[in-house]
Amino acid sequence: MKVLSSIPFIFLISIVCLTQLSISQKCLEYLRPIYRYETKVVDCPMVSINDKRQLIPESNDLMFIINFNCLINDKIMCNKVENVLITAGKFVSATLNLKTAITIDAQFLNFCLEYGDCDKEKVILGSTRPGRMIPNQDPDGKVRLYPQALLKQLQLPEHPEFGSSDILTTFNSNTDYWFEGDPLPSLKNNPDMLYVVVHEMIHGLGFTTAWRDYFNTQALTPIPGYFSATAKGHFLEFIFDKNLVLLPSGKSLTFFVDELNKFPIDFVLTENEFVNLFVKSPQFPVAQNMYKNAITHGAIGFLITSNLQPNTQLTQDDVFLLETSLVPFQPGSSVAHVDFETYFDTSDFLMMYKYPKISLGQMMAKVGSTNTTGPIGPKLRLLLGMLGYEVKKDYIPPVVLLSSSQSDNESSFNNTSNTSTNKSNPPKPSNNIEKSDSSLLDM
Ligand SMILES: [Zn+2]
Repeated sequence: MKVLSSIPFIFLISIVCLTQLSISQKCLEYLRPIYRYETKVVDCPMVSINDKRQLIPESNDLMFIINFNCLINDKIMCNKVENVLITAGKFVSATLNLKTAITIDAQFLNFCLEYGDCDKEKVILGSTRPGRMIPNQDPDGKVRLYPQALLKQLQLPEHPEFGSSDILTTFNSNTDYWFEGDPLPSLKNNPDMLYVVVHEMIHGLGFTTAWRDYFNTQALTPIPGYFSATAKGHFLEFIFDKNLVLLPSGKSLTFFVDELNKFPIDFVLTENEFVNLFVKSPQFPVAQNMYKNAITHGAIGFLITSNLQPNTQLTQDDVFLLETSLVPFQPGSSVAHVDFETYFDTSDFLMMYKYPKISLGQMMAKVGSTNTTGPIGPKLRLLLGMLGYEVKKDYIPPVVLLSSSQSDNESSFNNTSNTSTNKSNPPKPSNNIEKSDSSLLDM
């Protein structure tokens, strides 16, 4: 049962559109990455890139500034996790030519104790959110929400004020991770921390969709919000959503957003009144149809080719197929990941919703990407480029992973050095905030 009051229903965005850029006074922040619905609206007045308040930290070799908060009582484990965060940043920096350093606030804590999330069959490994989502006007005239890490790379002369961190990420200590150098047999049951962290970083950079079943009506819409107290409300896309298309028609999801936006969003209404009006509106079938697409394998893709002729039937090469096989729609897994079936055996494996049960090094060796694209495969490189990141032409592996040359039965390590976390603590009762952003699952 959803707790309706937790939905970011009153999401005020105040934007004054000028000819070239949108002036924004309100941005969206997530309070904790695991609770997608825990959002707050913050002031983010326009500032100039030269404004002293917005000095962007420069770091010469490491483009990630990591503020790590380890909330477990195991120093060795904390150090291991922190080292993995640094290594993961190196893999991303080997792929992207970052213009400004990215600040990551990372936490390692027990989801069972902290959030009452104690499911052993389906363990949430990590969850990530952009620190701030910032409205920005795209060349097509639409205002979309940009993750702060991305907007920073665009180096706009003026932009809404940035928050202190670009990416918020949380990792669940309530599972036994495997680390490079640990005995390989334990890898069979324990997820590779490096795999988890690189995957989560990509979400933080902008691999995240606004399409969700916000009203629990088996209908998908982008996030409802409004631009000013006097203007009518809008369903707002994230920048990731700009390139989403239906297959095989190639019809842009933005077209359906325009249809949905014919529905007058009036935030004076209570949420129940709003939902009652929406389900009876001519726009509701559009949202229902989108829900159907989101649970139909092969129905939604991220367009990675540009300048397509109108009415061209798309092929697999034109898109990065998204995860639309899960029934019912799984918030945090559906659409926000790539198709498991299609990419499991390819160098574009990284953004599948499920951990594939082998290490990042082994996965890269298996698909042959260790020295070609590393963890970030060719389609993911194109996707990041389309979001607005500058992608490096060549890939030089920043780190040699031992496990990339080892198979499970070659290991000579013993199994006793594996660090484990305390799994026997009783869970806190689950609180009533809807927590549905599972991000990467081990199941
Ligand atoms: Zn994920």
